Amino acid sequence: MTHTGQCLCGAVKYTVTAELKETGACHCSMCRRWTGGVYLGLEVAPEAIAFEGAENITTFASSAWAERAFCSKCGSNLYYRVTAPGLHSGTYHIGLGTLDQPNGIPLTGEIFIDEKPDGYAFAGDTHKMTGAEVFAQFAPPENP
Ligand SMILES: [Zn+2]
Ligand SMILES: [Zn+2]
Repeated sequence: MTHTGQCLCGAVKYTVTAELKETGACHCSMCRRWTGGVYLGLEVAPEAIAFEGAENITTFASSAWAERAFCSKCGSNLYYRVTAPGLHSGTYHIGLGTLDQPNGIPLTGEIFIDEKPDGYAFAGDTHKMTGAEVFAQFAPPENP
């Protein structure tokens, strides 16, 4: 099963060779500023994605554990990627909106729900987690 996607100008294209079963929303203040709204990400293992036009990808280290990538020609957000070592290292979270065919992928989870602007909410039953709950589950243990 393959999925394809690209940035707004087409300078960066990608192919995902994996099933994309669900998407998750992140309401954190960093994703809010990065996207100008809310980030809808799809988890993709590093070995399941191939890029075309990778020379047009610029990455920004937004924290000690992750980077965010965008097209250097048109500015489209492309992915959030975990850079910290550990179980999730290298995992991509590509933007749902960059897919050529974004239909048929349900929104199942929302994280940093406590940072969501109060003027809107997604319909439907999703698994919601606060920022504190997310950090408790995913933060790498501190080195002694
Ligand atoms: Zn572009
Ligand atoms: Zn976020």
